[in-house]
Amino acid sequence: MTAPIKFVYAFAEGSRDMADLLGGKGAGLAEMTRIGLPVPPGFTVTTEACKVYLATGEEPAELGVEAARALAGLERAMGRELGAAEDPLLVSVRSGARNSMPGMMETILDIGLNDRSVTGLAKASGQERFAWDSYRRLIQMFGHTVMGVDGDLFEHAIAEHKRQRAVAADHDLDTGELVKLTDEFKALIRKETGEDFPQDPADQLARAIRAVFDSWNGERARVYRRREHIPEDLGTAVNVQAMVFGNLGPDSGTGVAFTRDPATGERGVYGDYLPDAQGEDVVSGVRDALPLSELRAIDPRAYVELGDHLRTLEDHYRDLCDVEFTVERGRLWILQTRVGKRTAEAAFRIAHDLGEEGTIGADEALIRVDGAELTRLMFPRFDTTEDRVPLAHGVPASPGAAVGVAVFDSAEAVRRAAAGEHTVLVRRETTPDDLPGMIAAEAVLTSRGGKTSHAAVVARGMGKVCVCGAEALAVDPTARRFTAPDGTVVNEGDTVSVDGTAGTVHLGELPLTASDVGRALETGTSTGPLTDAVLGALAHADSVRRLEVRANADTPEDAARARALGAQGIGLCRTEHMFLGERRALVEAMILARDDDARERALAALLPLQRADFTRILAAMDGLPVTIRLLDPPLHEFLPDRTDLAVRLAATAHPDPHDRELLAAVERMDEQNPMLGLRGVRLGLAVPGLTAMQVRAVAEAVTERLRAGGDPRAEIMIPLVGTVEELRLARAEAEEVLARVAAESGTRFDCPIGTMIELPRAALTAGRIAEAADFFSFGTNDLTQTTWGLSRDDAEASFFPLYLDKGVFEVSPFETIDQEGVGRLVEIATEAGRAVNPRLGTGVCGEHGGDPESIHFFHGVGLDYVSCSPFRIPAARLEAGRAAL
Ligand code: ADP
Ligand code: MG
Ligand code: MG
Repeated sequence: MTAPIKFVYAFAEGSRDMADLLGGKGAGLAEMTRIGLPVPPGFTVTTEACKVYLATGEEPAELGVEAARALAGLERAMGRELGAAEDPLLVSVRSGARNSMPGMMETILDIGLNDRSVTGLAKASGQERFAWDSYRRLIQMFGHTVMGVDGDLFEHAIAEHKRQRAVAADHDLDTGELVKLTDEFKALIRKETGEDFPQDPADQLARAIRAVFDSWNGERARVYRRREHIPEDLGTAVNVQAMVFGNLGPDSGTGVAFTRDPATGERGVYGDYLPDAQGEDVVSGVRDALPLSELRAIDPRAYVELGDHLRTLEDHYRDLCDVEFTVERGRLWILQTRVGKRTAEAAFRIAHDLGEEGTIGADEALIRVDGAELTRLMFPRFDTTEDRVPLAHGVPASPGAAVGVAVFDSAEAVRRAAAGEHTVLVRRETTPDDLPGMIAAEAVLTSRGGKTSHAAVVARGMGKVCVCGAEALAVDPTARRFTAPDGTVVNEGDTVSVDGTAGTVHLGELPLTASDVGRALETGTSTGPLTDAVLGALAHADSVRRLEVRANADTPEDAARARALGAQGIGLCRTEHMFLGERRALVEAMILARDDDARERALAALLPLQRADFTRILAAMDGLPVTIRLLDPPLHEFLPDRTDLAVRLAATAHPDPHDRELLAAVERMDEQNPMLGLRGVRLGLAVPGLTAMQVRAVAEAVTERLRAGGDPRAEIMIPLVGTVEELRLARAEAEEVLARVAAESGTRFDCPIGTMIELPRAALTAGRIAEAADFFSFGTNDLTQTTWGLSRDDAEASFFPLYLDKGVFEVSPFETIDQEGVGRLVEIATEAGRAVNPRLGTGVCGEHGGDPESIHFFHGVGLDYVSCSPFRIPAARLEAGRAAL
């Protein structure tokens, strides 16, 4: 018999391991309760209850009874009754999914107030204005969130009262005004919904819980989940918690605190505090908060106690934690904790520092950072060597350099980004409704709010550049412009540069320079705590990883750069790039050759050029493998465009005979579907002498390097093989040339010959192919195209957005390896190939070689190496290390 499912847990019954069931917030509240931190009591309705509701449209039958029992327990513990006429208990109803989704779903405060209990609250607190303000807030929040009334209608009513009274802030409305406002709000709800604001506290509670369930499928939450790859079916838990009040006067307040700086990772408590305030006033940035350090002067006891709790939490979670807290008449309450979001810079520094402090081990420190973060740190920053005066300074909330045109609302950012423009979203403050624009923009700039404002928290979570609280800027979203203190007016469409590291905004486009981390990685020398942390993490990754990391590099410069960044060889050297530029004429001559003589002459002219390229690349990678792929793309790619040529010919009275010949060749070689046409090994077999010339260039480069005392390790790779017969033919030709060059030069050298596996047939017949191959290199770009039967160049622009939207893909299969399909072929081929040839080398040279998730997969399959572009090598090393843990 299975135990009956339980849908409600008191905070005291849960723990941090129960985040799936209780959500992140619920698990945190439970854990803090368990270790004795001052948490207002309450209970959590599970994500399972939410799932039932979302699936059936009704709460599970048991929920009502369980929630009522939990509420009775809460009332006993507090010695008060929900919404009672005398000294009422009030509760908050708070969303909280497994993954933190800050501000994306609903929370309703002050549940339990009604026409009678508001008087009870006034009496119990001794503050009439406070009681009516709370009631006003409840009706407003409930009316909007639960009953669906347009939030602006409430705001307009408040604004009208303020206008009549000629006051600026909500704060300045007196009790009389607030009483009138609550009546107006109730009338508004009745008018808009035909229903009264519910007076029954139990009814309020039940409907609030349902509204939180519903908010899982709200527009904001859905957009956020898609962006963060959070599954759609997890559901949210709901936390019902006794209210505490930070808005009871100057000895009360509310705030947010971090155990370390979430932007830089620097040690030391960090946060914001807002006296005499409640709820989301801090996060929304509607009032500017004080730095947390000022709490020390305002309430030294609460400050010290908060510091103790932060230390307890960091020791307990062994990581950066953030908390929401409230001081009610000098008494400190902790309302939320979680392992805090942080910037890439902070992630590396915190992991490193926690390691040094002995809180975590080196493996754990490596797990705590990732390749995407490392890549972000390598992006260039603004060159600050020349002095430029910024338009304004703000809070450096999320680091990095971004250039874009100013836009003043979310929709405009989305519109322009869709058209390929880079934008900077400028707002006074952001709300969750700005999320699509924040995703679309390169950077976010606000004139209000601190490091814990919505803009800062969300931007940091997304790794977006953000400067917030640039108070000197007068932002006018209606006129779509902002004005700087020096009088400069920036209109929508003007270019600005946002420096999220320095916290500045500049007019125009600032020049960029290599980042400190990028430079340190290339030179291997640290220049400060951040580069210490990065180099330390990489050193550990290198010591534990099994996968080697090679580079995709076609030039000696790229090869040298890749080597400096830690490449252990070249996994893909594309020879076609060497056919471009000035050599185009030679390539044309080869293609146009009417007879063998002419072709041989053209090939002979190309030979020394290719040899020189290979010699320099082998020198740059001396002692390390260099896998050289023979010419792959269809030849017509090296000829001029057919239409251009035809137009040119038609436009002149006396056409150049060479042009006419060219056009004939272009037409002869034109293919409906060149991707599946005469390319790869097919080309090498079809154009006599082409393979031989390329192999000779490689072999002669090897002998030249040997004579110079070098240690060249060239490998020859035959592309687009579908059957072992093709490989046998190409291999025989190559081996013959290798032997001849060895004889001519009187040297002996070893040059492995392998193939790319990039056709499903090659993967499925890999056992046969391995008979003729020394190594396999999975060309996962082509393998993805050919397995799915879709063209990357066309599909990504046409229907991929639709597919991502409909959830056909969670992520493009060209970005992250499709494990089930393409990945399965990689597994099959590796296994079959090794069975035939136990010494078979295996690697990946597609874009996936630099993708973190794919690297973990390739590690699991047991490949020898991944190969990626030089810039991604540090991230690949890091991920290969993480995969090995
Ligand atoms: P989010 O997930 O968007 O942060 P929360 O559930 O944390 O939403 O609630 C929003 C705000 O309401 C928080 O800043 C918190 O301070 C306040 N709040 C929630 N519950 C209570 C409570 N029981 N007493 C006082 N304030 C509360
Ligand atoms: Mg919160
Ligand atoms: Mg290919």
